[in-house]
Amino acid sequence: MAALTRLLKPSSSSSTSLLFRRSLSTTTAAVSEIQSQHHQSPNFSDPKPSRNFQWVFLGCPGVGKGTYASRLSNLLGVPHIATGDLVREELSSSGPLSRQLAEIVNQGKLVSDEIIFDLLSKRLEAGESKGESGFILDGFPRTIRQAEILDEVTEIDLVVNLKLREDVLVEKCLGRRICSQCGKGFNVASINAKAENGRPGMSMAPLLPPPHCASKLITRADDTEQVVQERLRVYNEKSQPVEDFYKNQGKLMEFDLPGGIPESWPKLLEALNLDDYEVKRSAVA
Ligand code: AMP
Repeated sequence: MAALTRLLKPSSSSSTSLLFRRSLSTTTAAVSEIQSQHHQSPNFSDPKPSRNFQWVFLGCPGVGKGTYASRLSNLLGVPHIATGDLVREELSSSGPLSRQLAEIVNQGKLVSDEIIFDLLSKRLEAGESKGESGFILDGFPRTIRQAEILDEVTEIDLVVNLKLREDVLVEKCLGRRICSQCGKGFNVASINAKAENGRPGMSMAPLLPPPHCASKLITRADDTEQVVQERLRVYNEKSQPVEDFYKNQGKLMEFDLPGGIPESWPKLLEALNLDDYEVKRSAVA
């Protein structure tokens, strides 16, 4: 942790890179090979570059980053790493950080960059020792500083920015449930947002749990209306600039979710030029 803190000081950005880079060594081994390719616009039509995917999912709380990142992770065979999950794992442990984190998370604030880098480095190291390569990051980077440090240590191929109307986001967060046993996410909200002010209407069926999960559902402590509003405010202040950071690099793919999973998933695959990939994968499965 001390080394990471040192690394995060602006004056020692190169040593910061070195430390965090250690956790990313599997992927950075191929960075020089792909650097020339990634200084151009991302090539969405070539979904399988010479090393595994290094993607980032951005988007407001409740937009569905976890849902779509996890589906793509299964499809592409790369780990889905959600910093929110790493924070919640730490929260549920009896470690020294737990109480400090609970206070921050339950107010809808962001955890410090140092803590996030520490949790993420550990997760990447654990994955590396199991032979993982590539990643789909969800909920990271959330500040310009996180994006800059990530940029120093590895090359991101593509950033998917999921978008949804704000009233729907709030309803989705309030309907979100998690099975306390298997950890799967569900949503009990039945959304029927009317068309207004030029925005199209939107319907989303609930994503209900199977019977064996139904009695074990819990709600995240930060999914209350007040905390969701604060998380949206924090997103607009701290995380929206990250969208521009990647837009300026030509890596941002904006994706307006047209509805729930049945409508959105095929369209997302199409936007990523992966629709054919899914068909081919299921044909050989
Ligand atoms: P999420 O599940 O992505 O909504 O994250 C839950 C909470 O974890 C957030 O509200 C933050 O308090 C914290 N968190 C997750 N990722 C980050 C990050 N990259 N930077 C700072 N805090 C984070």
